[in-house]
Amino acid sequence: MAKLVREQSEKGRLHIDTSLMGESLVSRELLRQTEAGEYFRMQPDINVLKIGGQSIMDRGASGILPIVDELIRLKDEHKILLMTGGGTRARHVYKIGMELGMPTGVLSKLGDKVSWQNAEMLSILLAKHGGVKIGHSDNIEQLTMFCRLGYLPITTGIPPYGFFEHPAEVGSIPPHRTDSGAFLLAENIGAKSVIYMKDEKGLYSSDPKKVERVEDLDFYSKIHVDELIELDLDDLIVERPVLTFLKHAKCLKQFQIIDALNHPEHIEAALNGEEVGTIVYK
Ligand code: ADP
Ligand code: MG
Repeated sequence: MAKLVREQSEKGRLHIDTSLMGESLVSRELLRQTEAGEYFRMQPDINVLKIGGQSIMDRGASGILPIVDELIRLKDEHKILLMTGGGTRARHVYKIGMELGMPTGVLSKLGDKVSWQNAEMLSILLAKHGGVKIGHSDNIEQLTMFCRLGYLPITTGIPPYGFFEHPAEVGSIPPHRTDSGAFLLAENIGAKSVIYMKDEKGLYSSDPKKVERVEDLDFYSKIHVDELIELDLDDLIVERPVLTFLKHAKCLKQFQIIDALNHPEHIEAALNGEEVGTIVYK
């Protein structure tokens, strides 16, 4: 427990005695000492489901409605936070912004608005079933309460970096988009799971949409995050920073990618802990 100590000087000021006093908080050795055995989980029953922008929302009614029906059916048995992707409209605005030489942080702000459009549409579709659009600040503490009361909270997947978005390793597209936002939020609230709803079975050795025969690709139903980082694939079904986030995660032990577009029933399977799609674990 932190103690108050009186300075041995004329003024005799009081200090709080903490092991972090006088530290830059940069030292690796010091940081190692701060690792906790177990981290507090604020929302341990919440499942964070990200609905793909390009992979699902952009398909329109035929893609969205069967998933919405599943969510309505599942929301009383499973606590769900729905997070939205951006998709083609975000890609369009990134392209225009890039042509204009806009910085990454501006592109991030533009993408956020598209993800909000998708959140808005879903909250309207789900309104009479308890769908409620929420922000990233105060409402996050209330997630379990919302779900217990029968609501289905929905928010944007873009993390609120805005002008603080990290420079991308290559190019200027914001590296932390909605897959990243869903993972970071799930991790920080100590969620039960993070599940990405997309339009492919899961992770292959390359983009299945860009080959003639999907059978020629390797499929990974379960893969350790270190192995996946080591493979250094040119393209992935989730944003690349999510791999490092999982590697460093304190609460989450895995994330899952499912083909909710062609198999809406996989949402329930994943919520029940079944190994559908791809699981990346640590
Ligand atoms: P979302 O709209 O959910 O963000 P994206 O379209 O951004 O989804 O990313 C998912 C897409 O990534 C898939 O539809 C697939 O075409 C592509 N993809 C790229 N690399 C891979 C890979 N190695 N394995 C599977 N899919 C991949
Ligand atoms: Mg994406």
